[in-house]
Amino acid sequence: MTILNNNHWDKASILLIYTGGTIGMIENPETGVLESFNFQHLKDNMPELKKLGYGVSTIQFDPPLDSSEMGPQSWMKLVKIISDNYQSFDGFVILHGTDTMSFTASALSFMLENLSKPVILTGSQLPIGMLRTDGKENLITAIEIAAAKENGIPVVPEVCIFFENDLLRGNRTSKINADNFNAFRSYNYPSLAHAGIYIKYDTQQIYHSVSRKPLKPHYLLDENIAILKLFPGISPHVVESILNIPDLKGVVMETFGSGNAPSFDWFLEMLKKAVDRGIVIVNITQCKTGNVEMHRYETGHKLLNAGVISGYDSTTESAVTKLMFLFGHGLSAEEVKDHMNCSLIGEISISDTFRS
Ligand code: ASP
Repeated sequence: MTILNNNHWDKASILLIYTGGTIGMIENPETGVLESFNFQHLKDNMPELKKLGYGVSTIQFDPPLDSSEMGPQSWMKLVKIISDNYQSFDGFVILHGTDTMSFTASALSFMLENLSKPVILTGSQLPIGMLRTDGKENLITAIEIAAAKENGIPVVPEVCIFFENDLLRGNRTSKINADNFNAFRSYNYPSLAHAGIYIKYDTQQIYHSVSRKPLKPHYLLDENIAILKLFPGISPHVVESILNIPDLKGVVMETFGSGNAPSFDWFLEMLKKAVDRGIVIVNITQCKTGNVEMHRYETGHKLLNAGVISGYDSTTESAVTKLMFLFGHGLSAEEVKDHMNCSLIGEISISDTFRS
């Protein structure tokens, strides 16, 4: 663990990108509904921003988006902003609605190849203008983390989510709580840092690319991906209609336990036919923690025989965005399977890796 305090870095410059979400919301006095407010509101409510001592520049989405409305177009916009400003800033903080923050963080981790600077997403459960807001602490610590350097090297050159005291690898996270301040978890990978009185970094867990190549922004994503969540009693109509979506390229299939599914003939035949048509089916467990191991039970083994591939310990958010990314780059089904069997940027616990 490394503890850094304010004396350890030179004055850093941070680009704060406000995409929308609760953190910048204000209550409409007439309707009581939370609405996105002008970014100026955030600055008005946070004189602390000026006190930090860093150069903090801001940029905002116009209009700000509830994160339910974010998707590939917004991710590309974020990649463009980061890439255009990459040389001018030491780190980037993205203010984002919590609802789909894990999807954005996962997508950005694939789209920002050779990242060597921090990209920290945060937001809040209560608007920044409210007395009990969690937004101020989240934002200030996210900025500190984005600014942190040791011997001139950024401490966390990764796409991360900082929320309620913990810094998590973005592509390992899921939103798990709609009410409480601790809204995110990374079940299959440890926290990269914990913020108490000090910010304690677990440097062993932080990804440092050995490549010295310049940032390579990617803008190609293919949205022809679906999620098939299994449940006891799922009917052939449901499975068939999902697997026959026109232009479908990839399916994230959420299975039971260590990657098990019913072994009905109709089900296995539908999967096999889809695989034979070139659709990549990735097996992800519905359990929060743990790995898919299709060799463990006969039901899992039958999926392997049907051509389903393992998603290991991936989150659904990461598997969906990784498939979008890989198919977006025109890879064949076989090439996509090869890449799904490797870790691109620490998204699954497997030693094979494509990027170094
Ligand atoms: N609906 C909001 C959003 O995700 C919730 C939040 O910001 O936490 O944009």
